[in-house]
Amino acid sequence: MHLSILYRGSLIICNYGCEYCPFAKKQQSAIELAKDKQELTKFIDWIEQNHQHNFSILFTPWGEALIHPWYQQGLVRLTNLPNVSKAAIQTNLSCKLDWVEDCNKDKLALWATFHPEWIKRDRYLNQCLELNRRNVSFSAGVVGFPKFKQEIAALRQELPNNVYLWINAVKKELPKMSQGDLDFFEAIDPLFPINTHHYPSRDRSCQAGKSVISVDGEGNMRRCHFIRQPIGNIYNSNWESALRDRLCSNETCHCHIGYVHLDYLELDKVFGEGILERIPVATLGKN
Ligand code: SF4
Ligand code: SF4
Repeated sequence: MHLSILYRGSLIICNYGCEYCPFAKKQQSAIELAKDKQELTKFIDWIEQNHQHNFSILFTPWGEALIHPWYQQGLVRLTNLPNVSKAAIQTNLSCKLDWVEDCNKDKLALWATFHPEWIKRDRYLNQCLELNRRNVSFSAGVVGFPKFKQEIAALRQELPNNVYLWINAVKKELPKMSQGDLDFFEAIDPLFPINTHHYPSRDRSCQAGKSVISVDGEGNMRRCHFIRQPIGNIYNSNWESALRDRLCSNETCHCHIGYVHLDYLELDKVFGEGILERIPVATLGKN
């Protein structure tokens, strides 16, 4: 069996302080961070022990994980396991990148978000160019606030053509945006319109809970990050029995890490193998 897992442990802190983000203001003690590290080690041990299955993993931390050595080493370990096809992580790309050389880079991928208010564009760009030089797959992206338009346009010009630059639609801001802003975002990211919807999902078939699950630091399995009800625990001997067809119980789904698994949208055709790290099949660089 192949299973994709979106892992979110106990980490809830970040080295940036984005205005719109609740994790920007949080603190964690050394004890809490040690717990996160312990949970991550246990999770990776479990992946290794379940060698009869094949896994793709996306880390979706509530905060920045890659500044902590245990996430870097976790990716090194995971990408070198024979039963792991992919290990990817959402990051602000502020960390050093030398550790990627110890990974199996064919299996490593980064979802790298540019935060113009927290990092200078040239520093972020250099990090992207370093990933390119080191042959690491990644998607770059920016939250779609019109105030970032100049930085986004410049970044698109500077990034290599083979790098996809996604724009995350700020759903509640969309009605206030001009057609010019919407056209601008679509010119940068041809897939931007896909991200602008709340997709009807109630009673629709979704891979979440079947071929993709979310797992927290204690091993609780959920269908996805958006339905709180656990469906099992990976540390129970019969964990596989929780995986089956289920219809979505939420009214809508609006986040890439969720709706890409809604069957009727057929977004597996758009993203293929890059569905977790948000890299489309087609090269969507600058025109
Ligand atoms: S970089 Fe990401 S996690 Fe950190 S404060 Fe900004 S939005 Fe939040
Ligand atoms: S449609 Fe979204 S909310 Fe519903 S099960 Fe799938 S990922 Fe979860």
